[in-house]
Amino acid sequence: MRLLRGSHVFAPAELGAQDILIGGGRILTVGADLSAAAALAGLVRVETLPPGRLIPGLIDQHVHFIGGGEGDGPDARMPELGFEAFVSAGITTAVGLLGSEIEAKTLPLLLRKAHELDRAGLTTFIYTGAMALPAPFLTQSVRSDIMLVDKVIGAKSAIAERAFPNLDFAAFATLAGSLVQAKAMSGKASVLHLHVGRLANGLAPLFDLVEKIDFPPSQAVPTHVNRAPDVSPVFEQGVRFAKAGGTIDFTCCLGPRDGLPAGVDPVEAVLRALEAGVPAERITLSSDAGVAVPDGRGGFRAVSPAILFRDLLRLTTEGGLNWPQALAFVTVNVARVLGLSDRKGAIAPGMDADLALVGADGRVVWTMAAGRVVFDARTITRETVH
Ligand SMILES: [Zn+2]
Repeated sequence: MRLLRGSHVFAPAELGAQDILIGGGRILTVGADLSAAAALAGLVRVETLPPGRLIPGLIDQHVHFIGGGEGDGPDARMPELGFEAFVSAGITTAVGLLGSEIEAKTLPLLLRKAHELDRAGLTTFIYTGAMALPAPFLTQSVRSDIMLVDKVIGAKSAIAERAFPNLDFAAFATLAGSLVQAKAMSGKASVLHLHVGRLANGLAPLFDLVEKIDFPPSQAVPTHVNRAPDVSPVFEQGVRFAKAGGTIDFTCCLGPRDGLPAGVDPVEAVLRALEAGVPAERITLSSDAGVAVPDGRGGFRAVSPAILFRDLLRLTTEGGLNWPQALAFVTVNVARVLGLSDRKGAIAPGMDADLALVGADGRVVWTMAAGRVVFDARTITRETVH
């Protein structure tokens, strides 16, 4: 067992200086002074972390573990992501998915990579399916993937996307229906994670799902919703969808900062959505790490998972939000849509001991995943993010 003493805890709520007792990979107790409890328990390793903010490990629900494919040409084919890229940015849980290309980047490869990252210490899941319909699967169907494969917690699909227009609504509704059934059978979130492209119909097929087959809005997460209003109606539609009980996901790499000016900067998108009356708990952020973005020299570079933390920090500096507000978009809100609220996204008794320490300089200095220290800035060099 381990006792972390006196760190300033954001659970995400600000709890002030707290002791955290950890055992068996989980948080056993959180309290102002647990030294007596720790002494009773015996065999406790006591440590005091450097000053900073102790936050829940971040959850990234949209990551290309095996890199983006060749949808934008061979130069856009990106390599696999490494474990350190996640934990050095405070991410302890991630969901992998396929992108636009499924010939070289396949579901079996994605699943194997998820296991590799898991063995290193990350909690990983994947979405079955891909952008195309009918959705590819690992076993017999999307439904059986969710039933039979522990790591599969939902399916990816695409709407309003030129390369995958998916105009056959019946096929889309069949996928959604199978997710409703998979949720009932497996108890997993069985989330429909929807890539939203920039075509003019935007979220219309998602609204149709809700209206025509009574698909629960809470089971769908449209992503890339921070597209610029002059290229797509999806931002306005997303506001409407979130007000109707859905959750919308903004993509960190979509925006001028990462060379994609057709996107609204995610920090600005969050502020605009809040201003438009979207409840804060209906907004999430994800990195889209692993895909290619312009490198500014006519080529491509891979998006780093570290931009999730970058934008969390920016929400508190440029965005003017406080830490509990900003943290919710990358912790508790994401845990809820993924059906992981009993294990992930918060610092509380019974939760997995997934923690990150943000130093006074605004950098992640230490990360713990399931009770094990997986990153320590004093001993590991990090990758830089712009
Ligand atoms: Zn993506």
